[in-house]
Amino acid sequence: MRKQTKQMERLEQIRQHTLQDIERLKEELQAEIEPASATDDDSADVAADIYERGKIISLIKSLETKTHSLEHAIELAAKGMYGICEMCGVRIPPERLEIMPETTVCVNCAGKLEEGIRRRQIQMSDQDDYEDHLSEEGEYDEEDYEDEDEDLEDEDL
Ligand SMILES: [Zn+2]
Repeated sequence: MRKQTKQMERLEQIRQHTLQDIERLKEELQAEIEPASATDDDSADVAADIYERGKIISLIKSLETKTHSLEHAIELAAKGMYGICEMCGVRIPPERLEIMPETTVCVNCAGKLEEGIRRRQIQMSDQDDYEDHLSEEGEYDEEDYEDEDEDLEDEDL
């Protein structure tokens, strides 16, 4: 298949924008941290600051995840495979790619993946009767699981 040069350029542009957003948020986060440590006399303010920081951190994390996804989408475009669902092989509608350019699965498969993540999150939060049975269902291929595992680990930091 031919390289999807146009798509690669577009994805790379979005990736650059996303990286800039991450930088900007990190600066914002830095600015939030400094005044909070200087004035710890007002606990309500401190709580608000912590809340604000939490929001920025989760935003940074989701943008970092998006960057990884974009890099993966760029690799696929290089192979001429961008816009084709990685799990079931159907063509992803252009409207979906317009809204979520980093996506590499169709809406159906994305739903299945999310379902799998949710179940594993419930499983992870319930460490006492931790069982490995969910991963044995084999609905998704190993590669997708590995990607999602990385994302989950990031959230624990
Ligand atoms: Zn699919």
